[in-house]
Amino acid sequence: MNNVIVHDKEFKIFITRDEIRTRIMEMGIEVSNAFEERDPVFVAILNGSFMFAADMVRACKFDSELIFIKLASYEGTKSTGKMRVDLDFPYSLEGRDVIILEDIIDTGNTIKYIIDKIKEEHKPASVTMVSLLFKPDALGQKVPLDYIGFRIPNLFVVGYGLDYDGLGRTLPDIYQLVE
Ligand code: 5GP
Ligand code: MG
Repeated sequence: MNNVIVHDKEFKIFITRDEIRTRIMEMGIEVSNAFEERDPVFVAILNGSFMFAADMVRACKFDSELIFIKLASYEGTKSTGKMRVDLDFPYSLEGRDVIILEDIIDTGNTIKYIIDKIKEEHKPASVTMVSLLFKPDALGQKVPLDYIGFRIPNLFVVGYGLDYDGLGRTLPDIYQLVE
């Protein structure tokens, strides 16, 4: 597959749409087996996870609620871990089994923030973490990682929902930066 240019940078193919689809089907079976009788609610974190969420909920064998929330890191210094909520939970998740859908876990700051917020403000029955991608080298927080699609090296990726400065999200495959 050809390299792509996003803004000023070149990216090469890293995980194909077929590999993504196969892995999500496997994860869907695992999550279905664990949650089929529990009426869970999916919480997808915008923007990056919109494509993964769409495929992941369809890979699960049960119907369920799906809500979207949106977070942003505060502008300025990199990786302060300070978060701002741009789109909050539409209703309480008290007593519910919550399944968080995230595109990628890098430092773990986003996910730690969201898990703490759900636990403190919503008193859920349980919180389960599902991420398509995980960079083990970069994990600076102790967070529960229940279902991981792919463990990847600490490199910048785009496509399948993940952007570089607003672009690259709509690519059906995942690409990595050519250094
Ligand atoms: P964390 O809070 O775990 O450091 O970062 C999570 C967020 O950073 C992800 O939801 C994603 O928006 C962004 N991110 C981390 N690594 C990458 C990457 O390799 N590519 C892109 N496009 N976004 C990333
Ligand atoms: Mg994200």
